[in-house]
Amino acid sequence: ASSDGGLQIGVMNGDGIGPEIVPAAVAVADAAAARAGIRIDWVELPFGARAIESHGTPIPDETLEALSGLDLWVLGPHDSAAYPAGFAADLTPGGVIRKRFDLFANLRPARALPGVAATAPGIDVLIARENSEGLYADRNMAVGSGEFMPTPDVALSVGVITRAATERIAAEAFRAARGRSGHVTIVHKANVLRLTTGLFRDVCREVAVRYPDVRVDDFHVDAMAAMLVRRPEQFDVVVTENLFGDILSDLAGELAGSLGIAASVNCSSSRAMAQAAHGAAPDIAGQGIANPVAIIGSTAMLLRWYADRTGRADVRAAADRIDTAVATTLAAGVCTRDLGGVATTAGFTERVLADIATS
Ligand code: ATP
Ligand code: MG
Repeated sequence: ASSDGGLQIGVMNGDGIGPEIVPAAVAVADAAAARAGIRIDWVELPFGARAIESHGTPIPDETLEALSGLDLWVLGPHDSAAYPAGFAADLTPGGVIRKRFDLFANLRPARALPGVAATAPGIDVLIARENSEGLYADRNMAVGSGEFMPTPDVALSVGVITRAATERIAAEAFRAARGRSGHVTIVHKANVLRLTTGLFRDVCREVAVRYPDVRVDDFHVDAMAAMLVRRPEQFDVVVTENLFGDILSDLAGELAGSLGIAASVNCSSSRAMAQAAHGAAPDIAGQGIANPVAIIGSTAMLLRWYADRTGRADVRAAADRIDTAVATTLAAGVCTRDLGGVATTAGFTERVLADIATS
């Protein structure tokens, strides 16, 4: 943040529908901030397919350098499958950023919104997914590529759980619970993956002792999937390792209505990045019909994350105003085609901006 209380936020539009939805989120956040008396400098950075054309790489060094000088970023989707040969599909630029800056927590809320048909209208959960290790071999910093084949007919995968990484995601979850309903559910599979997810459960339990005001319970991941469908309203914050968190957050997102409205932030203790849960949607790119709700909601989460860290009530007010304006717009029946409506990206965004201007 600059000395006058203004914020600087790095912006990477990305591929596919990114150049349509990310500017919508920037416009909405900018308007909400202005109403709260906050100025935001949006710093656009080369990223994705366009950066391949201009800089010869989807994630240029100058972008990484600029990111390290900023604490808050908005990341559009990338479509690395469409990159020219030579830019390996296994190089996901978002993953490069997450690793480089050790964004160890992926926070994904799932809450049903009026105006959006939901399988589980009572759901209101926050999934705190460990983002740096666990059973995701290709993200595994400790062992490099964690999958290998000792013979052509045998494939192995290594899962890594460390005390340090578990402590920090658990602390994130318990802190978040204090601002919500004060309940954390630890998800593991300690009856089978005894050592790895057993350690995860045990360290989360140890961290829980520091938060006596937060209620804690735990579930095996399979039982958790069933319970999320059967009684979603009984959960508040869910903390889990990487692979389980990936799967459960898609499940929760769909139960809440649609992945197209699922927001998330990736964060460390000092930095945060807004990123929608969905991808680049190349099938509808350039048509002006993409749903901007997920990236708008992610940007509101980004501001709230900053407000929590700094105690800035004005930034929190801006974040609340964004969420209220989106909820009001959806509740009025204005929505894009993926939600069964007829609004364009621009039309939806105009309605949200009008609500911010008059509320
Ligand atoms: P990735 O591998 O990057 O996660 P994906 O293959 O899972 O991508 P998405 O890009 O998320 O797929 O798209 C899945 C489907 O959802 C597509 O039909 C796409 O058009 C639709 N979709 C995704 N995001 C949106 C959005 N914001 N608005 C409307 N439709 C969307
Ligand atoms: Mg996907």
